[in-house]
Amino acid sequence: MNENIKKTILVVDDNESNIDMILAILKEYDVIPSTSGEDALALVKEESIDLMLLDILMPGMDGYAVCQRLKNQAGTQDIPVIFITAKTDEESIEKAYDIGGADFVTKPFKPKELLARVKVQLKLQTVLRELDFLATRDSLTGIYNRRKFFQLAEQMYAKASDDLYAVMIDIDHFKRVNDRYGHHTGDDALKNITRAISQALPKSSLFGRMGGEEFAVLLKTGDHTQAMNVVSLLQQKVSETLINIGDGSTISCTISSGVACNQGEITTLDQLLRQADTALYKAKEGGRNQSIFRNV
Ligand code: GH3
Ligand code: MG
Ligand code: MG
Repeated sequence: MNENIKKTILVVDDNESNIDMILAILKEYDVIPSTSGEDALALVKEESIDLMLLDILMPGMDGYAVCQRLKNQAGTQDIPVIFITAKTDEESIEKAYDIGGADFVTKPFKPKELLARVKVQLKLQTVLRELDFLATRDSLTGIYNRRKFFQLAEQMYAKASDDLYAVMIDIDHFKRVNDRYGHHTGDDALKNITRAISQALPKSSLFGRMGGEEFAVLLKTGDHTQAMNVVSLLQQKVSETLINIGDGSTISCTISSGVACNQGEITTLDQLLRQADTALYKAKEGGRNQSIFRNV
């Protein structure tokens, strides 16, 4: 999250001279102009938009309809919308806020006021994004925390068919790393190992820290062989991950993994993860540094 990256603002107004005026006011931002609601909705799918300035009265789709559509789509509902309109009656203003507008500016607008309101919304959005990051990430490794992992896993499970694999991962003899080289080295090891796993996982996977040195993955993959190939890649990448112990030398860790597939008698996410956990236990029992697949 870098606040210095130029923010992108989508300005939607059927009147081009209004758009020109707003472009001049917002010259410090990347502004994308759009002259219709339909175009604006197509643009939000292609571009990463931080804020939308939206006219209400437009031919075709009006600003209210555009805002409603934005607020009903998962990918766009967090884009703040400032309505800019000639409407000044109380009902229009109330409606704008009711359907999810963040602010309301009446035409003719005062340039400095508009700029100030834009800045407030962008600042608010940055703070909300930071809060969301803090609430959903593990502070040491930056990957999803347990709570967020389960929330996203439930969504992924609801959509998935029988090609979903759960992998429970636990670092082997990790207590020894702390005991021998100190907690700081242990923390570095956790960071490096999670980075290696993140990089090796297919983009569509979900990865979270369950607690301590234990992690969970949900993997959407073609078949059993592909899933086990991913898991052995993770083992290899972790064992190749070097951790500096401070005196110029390095150590490495191994992991054990338990794998289960959403097939057979498994009908809930909880059962799937429990199967993977049981398999992990077997991998530990079997001597560690290995992965075991288990299904009922
Ligand atoms: P096993 O192979 O059976 O998993 O052995 P283990 O030593 O990895 O397992 P155990 O559960 O006995 O110990 C886990 C250790 O992980 C103990 C704890 O100090 C360490 N640990 C958990 N969270 C953190 C952390 O955030 N930072 C550091 N440095 N260590 C952690
Ligand atoms: Mg362990
Ligand atoms: Mg453990």
